[in-house]
Amino acid sequence: MKVQDQLYGFTVMRSRRVEELDATLWELKHDKTGANLVWLDNAEENKLFAIAFKTLPSDDTGVFHILEHSVLCGSEKYPVKEPFLDLIKGSMNTFLNAFTSSDWTAYPVSSKNRKDFLNLTEVYLDAVFCPMIYRNPLIFRQEGWRYSLHEGEESPTYNGVVFNEMKGSFSSVDTQVMNHLNRMLFPDSPYGFVSGGDPEKIPDLTYEHFLDMHREFYHPTNSRIYLDGQIPLEETLSLIDSYLSRYEKSDKQHEIIPQKPVESLTREYPYAIGAEEDPKQRTQIAIGKILCDWSDRKKQTAVSILASYLMGSNDAPLKKAILERGLAQDVSFDVMDGIAQPYTILQFQNTEKEALEPLKATIKATVSELLEKGIDKDELSAVIDHLAFSMKSAEEPRGIYRIMRIVNSWIYDGDPLMYLTSDDLIAELREALKGNYFELLMEECFLDDAHKAELVMIPSRTKTAEDSAKEAERLKNETAEWSEEDRKATIEMNERLDAWQQTPDSEELKATLPKLELSDIDDEISWTETEVTKEKDVTKLIHSLQTDGIANAGLYFSICDIPMEDIPKLSLALSFLGDLPTASHSVRELQKEMKRSVGKRSITILPIRDPEGADKCRLYIAVTFSALEERFYDAVKLIREILLETRFDDDELIKALLKQEVEGMYQSIIGRGNSFAMTRAGRYFSASGAISELANGFSEYRYISNLSNQYETESRKFITFAENMKSLFTERRLLLSETGSITHDLLSAFDLPKGDDTEIKKTLQIALEPAGVPEAILIPAPVSYAAACSSLNQFGKRYNGRFNILSSILSYGYLWSEIRVRGGAYGCGFFASEGGSLGFYSYRDPSPLRSVEVYRNTAQFLKEYVESDEPVDSYIISSVGQYEKLRTPRQKGIDADLAWMIGKSKEDVVQIRKEMLNLKKEDLLEDCELFGDAFDRYAICVVCGEEQLSNQEGWKVERL
Ligand SMILES: [Zn+2]
Repeated sequence: MKVQDQLYGFTVMRSRRVEELDATLWELKHDKTGANLVWLDNAEENKLFAIAFKTLPSDDTGVFHILEHSVLCGSEKYPVKEPFLDLIKGSMNTFLNAFTSSDWTAYPVSSKNRKDFLNLTEVYLDAVFCPMIYRNPLIFRQEGWRYSLHEGEESPTYNGVVFNEMKGSFSSVDTQVMNHLNRMLFPDSPYGFVSGGDPEKIPDLTYEHFLDMHREFYHPTNSRIYLDGQIPLEETLSLIDSYLSRYEKSDKQHEIIPQKPVESLTREYPYAIGAEEDPKQRTQIAIGKILCDWSDRKKQTAVSILASYLMGSNDAPLKKAILERGLAQDVSFDVMDGIAQPYTILQFQNTEKEALEPLKATIKATVSELLEKGIDKDELSAVIDHLAFSMKSAEEPRGIYRIMRIVNSWIYDGDPLMYLTSDDLIAELREALKGNYFELLMEECFLDDAHKAELVMIPSRTKTAEDSAKEAERLKNETAEWSEEDRKATIEMNERLDAWQQTPDSEELKATLPKLELSDIDDEISWTETEVTKEKDVTKLIHSLQTDGIANAGLYFSICDIPMEDIPKLSLALSFLGDLPTASHSVRELQKEMKRSVGKRSITILPIRDPEGADKCRLYIAVTFSALEERFYDAVKLIREILLETRFDDDELIKALLKQEVEGMYQSIIGRGNSFAMTRAGRYFSASGAISELANGFSEYRYISNLSNQYETESRKFITFAENMKSLFTERRLLLSETGSITHDLLSAFDLPKGDDTEIKKTLQIALEPAGVPEAILIPAPVSYAAACSSLNQFGKRYNGRFNILSSILSYGYLWSEIRVRGGAYGCGFFASEGGSLGFYSYRDPSPLRSVEVYRNTAQFLKEYVESDEPVDSYIISSVGQYEKLRTPRQKGIDADLAWMIGKSKEDVVQIRKEMLNLKKEDLLEDCELFGDAFDRYAICVVCGEEQLSNQEGWKVERL
C-alpha cells in the first residue's frame, strides 16, 4: 500500500514510519463520505477496531450516553435484544465496550483471532449505523428512562439503566464537584453539560430528540475510525466501506466554539453526607481555570509534572504548607485533559468554608516564596523520568490505550500522531527545565486570579432526603395531570417492556449473529515458564520474558506466624511505606529518588489459600516493583530502604496520612461497595477470605477510622507495631522472583538481615467464624451493592474448569437479565474462583434485597437452561477467551509466581481448558446443588443507603 492508492472506497492520504512505536501510521479518507480512518500497522497480534463520533451535548439529559447504551441493543442485521451481550458471551474478544466522553462517543473492540475480529467489527458497524432504536422505542425506555408502573401500584417511579447508573455516579462528591465546576467554567460550551446525564434532567429527554441526535451525530462524515495491530486490511476496509457508502457526505459542522474565559466567580452548593455524620471539616473546595488549547500537549503535561512536584506527597511544598496550617485534610492539583480546552483544578478536601481565603493566601505565599528561592529542577527532572517510564509501560490491551490517546488531537482535526508518541514530548520537557518555562507556568496557575471559578461544597445531612422528596414531588406533579388513559398507557408500556425483556430471542434471530465455532479456537495455551533456582538459601523464581528493557522483581516474605489481630495494623503500616521519611531521606528526597528510579511498585498482604483446608492459608507480604534496566539497582536500594529504614516517629505526618487513608476508604466504600460487601461476606469461608477482610475490607476501615478518631490514646500501639514490622523483612522469610530477559543477583543487592533461627511456619490456621444473620453497611448515598458468598467446599466440591462456564452463564445470562435489565442495576455477576470461593454481587443496584432473592432462585434458572435448546458453545468460547487474557510481562510474572505458590502447573491449565472445552450441558445440572435451598449456606452482605433497607429486623447493621 502506498500514498494515493485507492482501495475499497478509501484513498491513502499519508503514511509515516514511527520508530518509537516500531510501526507505520497510515491515514486514509473515505472518498464518498469524507470519513477519516487511521491504521497503526504494528506487529501486534491483538487486532483492534474502533469507531468514534464527535458528540457534543447541548443539555444535561445524557442523550449521547443513552445512545451509547441503546445502539448496542440490536441492529438491522442482528436484530437480537443484546448483541453486545451475545458478543461478550460468545466471542474471544480481548476488549469490548463503549465510552461516552464530554465530546465523543467511541466503540472499540479487539481480538487476537482474525475471524473473531471481523465478526466483532461487523456487529459494531451495524450497531452504530443501523440500530433498532428507530423501530423499537422500548430500547429507549429500558436504557434511558421510563415511568415504572405496574398494575396494582399506586404511583410510578423513574427507572432506566442510564438513569440508575448516573444516580450512582452522582453519589460521589467528586462527580458533583466536576459537574458544578464544568458548568461554571463553560457556560456557553458543550463542556458545561453533564455528558453522562444528570438524573434530574434525564427524564426531560424525549424519544424523538433521542432519535434526532442519532441521525445527526452518528454519520460517517462525523466519524473517526481507528485500526491497530495485524488486521486483515482488505477485508476490514471493504467491510467498513459497505456501511459508509450508504451515506452521502454531510455538511453539518460540529465545531466546538472556544469558551471565552469567564469572569472570576464563587459559588456554593450542598452535597449529601449521612444523617448522623458530623459536618465539621467536611466542606470541599475546588478552584478551576481554563489552561490552554488541546494542541498544547507540552503545557498540559508540564502542569501534571508541577502538580506532582508541588503536591505529590504530604511533604511536597504546597501540600505541606496547607497541612501544617491545618487548613484542609488534603489538597490536589490536576489538569483535566481530553477536551478542546483543558483546565486545571485545585481541590481542597475536608475543610471549612471560612478557610477559603486563608487557603488561597497560603498557596500564593508559598508559591511566591518557592519562585523566589528557586524551584527544585532536580525534582522536576525525576518526575519527568517517572512519566517517561509510565508512558512506555501501558497496561494491556495497548490498542485501547492508544485509541484513548489518539482522540485527544484527532477529534479536533489535529494530527492523529500528536498524542501517540512520547519521546519528543519528554525531550521538550527536559529542555524546558533549562529555562524558566516551569516558573512562568507556576505563576500563571497560582498567582494569576483572573478567570477562576471557585466552588464551595457544603456538607448537608438532609440533602439525601430532600433529593428523594424532590423527585417524589416531581413525579407527583407530572402524574397529577395524567388521564386514566395515560395511566393505562404507562402500565401497558411497562408490560410490553417486561414481556420483551423476558422473551428470549428466537434461535432464528440468534443465528444472525456471526459466531466462532469451537474448531476456530487454537490449541495454544498461554503459560509463563518458571525456573526455580536458589540464591544462597533463598528460593528464586525466574520468568524469562521479553520486557523491552524493563526489569521486574518480587519479594515475598512469609508471615504465617503473625497474630490475626495484627493484620489491620500491618495493612496500614505497609500502606505508609514510601510516604514516610527513612533514616537517610526526608519524604521529599525519598519520593524524588523513587520517581527517578522505581517504575511501578506495590506492597501488600497476600493470603493464598492452602489446598489442605479452608481454615488454612499461606500468608506473605508481597513486594513487587519494576524499573528500567539501567536504574534497577537504584530501585533495589530504595525498596530496601523503605522496608528497613522507614521512620514512624513523626506523629503529625502519620496523622495526616491516616486521615487521608480514612477518607479514601470512605469514598471507595460508597463508590465500590460491591467489593467491600463481597470481602465482608467472604470472610466466613476461608482463612484467606478472613484475612482479606481484615486487611482491606470494612474491618480495616473500622480500625483506621477508630485509630484516627482516638489518635492520642491509640497511636502508641500502632507505632510500636509498625517499628517492629521491619523485623519481618528477613532472608529466612524470603521468596524471590524476577521477570525479564536479564537476571540480577537480587539477594546480595538487597542484603537483608538473615533473621533468627526459629522455624517459620509454612501455613496459618485460624478458627473461622460461622456466618450468621445477613449484614448491612449503611452508607450516606442512595446506591446499593448486594453480595452473597460461600465456598465450594461448603458443598463438598472442588474447582474445575466447568465453573468458569457456569460463571459466564450466570453472569451474562441469568443475572444480566434479572438484575441488570429488569432490576435496573448497573452491574452484577457470579464467580467461582480457582481458590474455591463462590458468590454473587450487584453494583449500583436500586433493589439489593430483590437481587438476593434472584441469587437464591438460581437453581431454577439453571434447570430450565439445561432443558432449553440454547447451546452452550458460545459460553465455552468466551470462557476460554477470558481465561487467556492479555497481560503485560509484569502481570505474567506475578501470575506465574502465584501459580508456583499454589502448585499450579502447565498440566493443570491444560486440564482446566480441557474441562471447559469438553463440557456437556447436562454436567451443569450438578451445580444446581449450589443454589436454591442450599442458598442458606451463603453469607449475605449489603452495602446500601438507609432507604434501601427499610426493614432492618433480623439484620446486623453497621454504619459507615
Ligand atoms: Zn453507561
